[in-house]
Amino acid sequence: MTFVFPPADIPSVAIADNAARFPVHRIYCVGRNYAAHAREMGKDPDRDPPFFFSKPADAVVPDGAEVPYPPQTENLHHEIELVVAIGKGGRDIAEADVHAHVFGYAVGNDLTRRDLQLAARDKGRPWDTGKGFDFSAPISAIQPAARIGHPESGRIWLAVNDAVRQDADLADLIWDVCEIVSILSGLYTLQPGDLIFTGTPAGVGPLQRGDVVSGGIDGVGTLTTRIV
Ligand code: MN
Repeated sequence: MTFVFPPADIPSVAIADNAARFPVHRIYCVGRNYAAHAREMGKDPDRDPPFFFSKPADAVVPDGAEVPYPPQTENLHHEIELVVAIGKGGRDIAEADVHAHVFGYAVGNDLTRRDLQLAARDKGRPWDTGKGFDFSAPISAIQPAARIGHPESGRIWLAVNDAVRQDADLADLIWDVCEIVSILSGLYTLQPGDLIFTGTPAGVGPLQRGDVVSGGIDGVGTLTTRIV
């Protein structure tokens, strides 16, 4: 096959203690999946079906990297999240079968241009400009489920310049990993290489140039970036 210009590199994420990398197919994200965060965004937490949005695959940023402050916003927010890495594709996956499709887990930061997201939300417009911009998906190395299992509880936290802003537990997820993957697989045929950001707990807030943003999930790992 020939191309009229060289195709872009395949976006990828590091895997803990493995020189091979995880090639990214798509990035899906869940909105409002912790009750306290739903309330801080002015919405009632409930068990309405989860809703999804996406980011471009090439928005991934590795642990330790510098993140350029994005254009056209005055309110860049952090959102620490558990990320599910899909290793085996499928559609209409039953909740009981989900674990067999999961390659592993990572720590992600669903960076958000909050001003653009809320303006779009309030006008019924898409969230793409608020959520799916360049460098909007910092993500740690993936820990294989074969090593760490499938975490259902554990501290999830984020600090800015060592001041803790988000501090919760995975057990507080409204929709858990098996439910999310099962429902998402009814909307899209999942593929190996898909990443799913599962939602953020309360405590989101603004970032400034120069901020060191660190976060982690017990048993999964840590993620540190600097806004420049
Ligand atoms: Mn989020």
